[in-house]
Amino acid sequence: MTDTMLSESLASARRRLAAALSAAERAPDAARLLAVSKTKPADMIRQAWQLGQREFGENYVQEALEKQTELADLKGIVWHFIGPLQANKTRAVAEHFDWVHSVDRDKIARRLNDQRPEALGPLEVCLQVNVSDETSKSGVAFDELESLAQAVVSLPRLRLRGLMAIPAPAATMAAQRAPLARLRQALEALRKRFPEAPLDTLSMGMSDDLEAAILEGATLVRLGTAIFGARDTSRR
Ligand SMILES: *Cc1c(COP(=O)(O)O)cnc(C)c1O
Repeated sequence: MTDTMLSESLASARRRLAAALSAAERAPDAARLLAVSKTKPADMIRQAWQLGQREFGENYVQEALEKQTELADLKGIVWHFIGPLQANKTRAVAEHFDWVHSVDRDKIARRLNDQRPEALGPLEVCLQVNVSDETSKSGVAFDELESLAQAVVSLPRLRLRGLMAIPAPAATMAAQRAPLARLRQALEALRKRFPEAPLDTLSMGMSDDLEAAILEGATLVRLGTAIFGARDTSRR
């Protein structure tokens, strides 16, 4: 992808988000763009940063650490870990990321808390919820969400910011909205239950369901392909 293409695709993603927010009668700054840069080279991230993008999502720990080293000079960059998280990778995530969206069990939460360096602020955490049980293997079930949230709220090095989901693909707007509406309602319930937690984030909405997600209150939409172009799937 050329520089001009990245600049155009980022501008187009921003316009799409702005149009969706306006159609939903929400404020222009009510949701932000998370640029999902997995499998993309560090110089593309640098270029997106030069175009004003600050928040980037990565799925693979080792790959992300290499890019972070290369991009250590970029001021104000915010790294989100959004991929499946195994126990043996929690230390690297606790030490090198600002956010984690994929916490779905106590054990992972406790390890992230214990491994978060004192010199850094608390790790910003979203709980990944399994909103389409048949198809997805990761994510906490709705009926176990409150007890996981309770565990995270009690951990001092973590800040419970909200919920994340990756719904199964759906063909119609109504079918896309249903699981996202459930996620929004689950966040509202947690806000009542844990008024002390800064529960302000709904990480939902990708290339195919961004408009549905914005209608249902998404505050952070995760776009990869739409910004950086198709991934070379042979790499993974
Ligand atoms: C890859 C990924 C995205 C972005 O997907 P695209 O189809 O490239 O827009 C968003 N969220 C998560 C959790 C991902 O793994």
